[in-house]
Amino acid sequence: MQLTDQNTFTLQGINPVQLLEQYGSPLYVYDGATIRRKVNELQHAFSGINMKIKYACKANTNLSVLKLMRSIGVELDAVSPGELEMGKLAGYSGNQITFTPSGVPFEEVKAAVEAGSIVNIDSIPLLEWFGKTYGNTKPCMIRIKPNVAAGGNIKIMTAHADSKFGISVLLLDRIKEVVAKYDIKIIGLHQHTGSDIKDAEPFLQVADILFEAAKQFPDLEILDLGGGFKVSYLPGDAVTDMELLGNKISERFKTFCNEYGRELQLWFEPGKFLVSEAGYLLVKTTVVKEDPARNFVHVDSGLNHLIRPMMYGSYHHILNLSNPAGESKPYNVVGYICETDTFATDRNLPEVRPGDVLAFLNAGAYGLTMSSNYNTRLRPAEILIDNGAAKLVRRRETLEDLLRTQIEI
Ligand SMILES: *Cc1c(COP(=O)(O)O)cnc(C)c1O
Repeated sequence: MQLTDQNTFTLQGINPVQLLEQYGSPLYVYDGATIRRKVNELQHAFSGINMKIKYACKANTNLSVLKLMRSIGVELDAVSPGELEMGKLAGYSGNQITFTPSGVPFEEVKAAVEAGSIVNIDSIPLLEWFGKTYGNTKPCMIRIKPNVAAGGNIKIMTAHADSKFGISVLLLDRIKEVVAKYDIKIIGLHQHTGSDIKDAEPFLQVADILFEAAKQFPDLEILDLGGGFKVSYLPGDAVTDMELLGNKISERFKTFCNEYGRELQLWFEPGKFLVSEAGYLLVKTTVVKEDPARNFVHVDSGLNHLIRPMMYGSYHHILNLSNPAGESKPYNVVGYICETDTFATDRNLPEVRPGDVLAFLNAGAYGLTMSSNYNTRLRPAEILIDNGAAKLVRRRETLEDLLRTQIEI
């Protein structure tokens, strides 16, 4: 993102307002340069150890984003057969895609194994089934629930004692029993703590728990610490200090590998960290309502396109691209869906006029992938700007797209 002398917001020299005029409103725009920078940052922070990035693609599954990831050596983490298929369409082979399900039907696990994916086993019943079905013929990993609470808020925590995810670290003996019974080939342990975790401390805490558990499994090749790094939501926001985290974890990981007697791979599965800051949802202001209680800015989009604020109170910084130098005023920015549909409350923005183009920042992760057709609204198009060129990577939906699955009787 860059603001030039004229206060014009550009991405790689391209003015997104012009993209909006060309492709229609609303519009998702992704900046490939930001994705490349974030991948670089992570790789650099862990350059001293054998580290692999498995992009948690539920954040953004546009095929062009996946292809970009692939071109820069990033592999995938998939949580559904659909994501696995998207990965394959983007050119990944099955063994480059980890499958991390959450209580899914076992047939989905079977399909993933047949595609060559390594599965993160997330329950004792699944482990039993895996053992019965494959014995020691297929490798797998185990998703441990470390019972650590960390992250932005309770709705996005995944490793506290009450979380549905993974097998409790308290059940290690039970895991070992099942593994021994079927001679299951455990090549890795996995954990994912949650999202929006700023400090190094929780990562170190769960790393230590995973290292301790790992000592009970002699044939490991991989430890996977999941994702969840906190990103910047507004200028100057506190984020995960990747350099510091990299140093601290690498140091402990090396010590662990020495004790373990073998050099392992360390995997991370960031979603948000790689794509959140790369994405912008551009919308147009429809009505500015000067209400005695509040000034409401209505826009031509809503929770159907970006549900994060309504789903878990996430903050999205907003720029008024049409009037960046306007006088600052407080507004409630609201969507057009017939539900409470609030993007921002009491937010100071440069004066907003009907027709102004607003940009919601941090829309690259969990934006379009969480979108819906609620209120029979169509999804926006997506643009990827990479190597200085803006390309349409998803066309806007049409009513025919919505009707395709309906059967008239
Ligand atoms: C969603 C998810 C991630 C990514 O979380 P972010 O907060 O986007 O980094 C990583 N691992 C698993 C298993 C996930 O489900």
